[in-house]
Amino acid sequence: MDTARLQQALDTITTRMQASDDWGQVASYIPELARIPPRQFGIAVATAGGEMLTAGAADTPFSAQSVTKVFALAIALGRAGDQLWARVGREPSGSAFNSIVQLEYEQGIPRNPFINAGAIVVTDEILSGRPPKEALAEILGFVRAAAGDDSIYINDKVALSENAHGHRNYALANFLRACGNLRHAPELTLGTYFHQCAIELSARQLARAGRFLIGAPGMPNLVARPRIRRLNALMLTCGHYDGSGEFAFRTGLPAKSGVGGGILAIVPGRASVAVWSPGLNAYGNSKLGTEAMELLARAMDWSVF
Ligand code: GLN
Repeated sequence: MDTARLQQALDTITTRMQASDDWGQVASYIPELARIPPRQFGIAVATAGGEMLTAGAADTPFSAQSVTKVFALAIALGRAGDQLWARVGREPSGSAFNSIVQLEYEQGIPRNPFINAGAIVVTDEILSGRPPKEALAEILGFVRAAAGDDSIYINDKVALSENAHGHRNYALANFLRACGNLRHAPELTLGTYFHQCAIELSARQLARAGRFLIGAPGMPNLVARPRIRRLNALMLTCGHYDGSGEFAFRTGLPAKSGVGGGILAIVPGRASVAVWSPGLNAYGNSKLGTEAMELLARAMDWSVF
């Protein structure tokens, strides 16, 4: 890896993003996230060679939100194996992250594990046979082990703020339960899900946490190789909701976004990239994060194609 070229690209992109006149809109439906100042940008790259390069606000913690769906899926597959696919599909939805329309047509089987309905089923699976505290400890423990950093934490205020306003997610959970695809009471599964989403980390920590998905020797060995490929395939096809095709077209990389403005992108065999800017585009994905990933992929000639 040409790290001098990479650092130069990160610096150039960061300067350009910081001069932006449109930072997007922060998520407003979770009051604790609505308070975050939008004009912030940070990026970090963990390479398969073990280097870490950063630019901008790479050490500011942010709310990981849906980026945690990748880690939760890895855990749920570890517990349930391929039986998980009886409860959740693997097709892009073409609908918004919190959409409910397809659930009725598809008898309560969410399209994929990265839209909210699918992620709620995944968390419900992780919860099976134990109290929420233990399930959460496993999720947080997995992220900490992946990053090699025990200082990563859950922001209770964000979780409680979402719970108090999470009517759409309650609607999804109740519908799943009515279809027989939720094993626990909606409050129990969603309480766990909201705390999972409220994990906070910096771009530097997220880039480190993503290294297990690079699939290269010397990276944290948390998931078997064939499963790493499948997680990446789902990130490429479903990681940005109804903006997934557009993101894949622009970057050529598997990635998962969150409504806190974070994006984790994987360059298989080479690097794990985390970018954060809290302002969102119309799909609920980081506006400048998406632009920066496109510029970085082009500058480094990174693509899975
Ligand atoms: N916790 C958020 C929700 O369930 C996560 C959504 C997201 O990051 N896109 O609505």
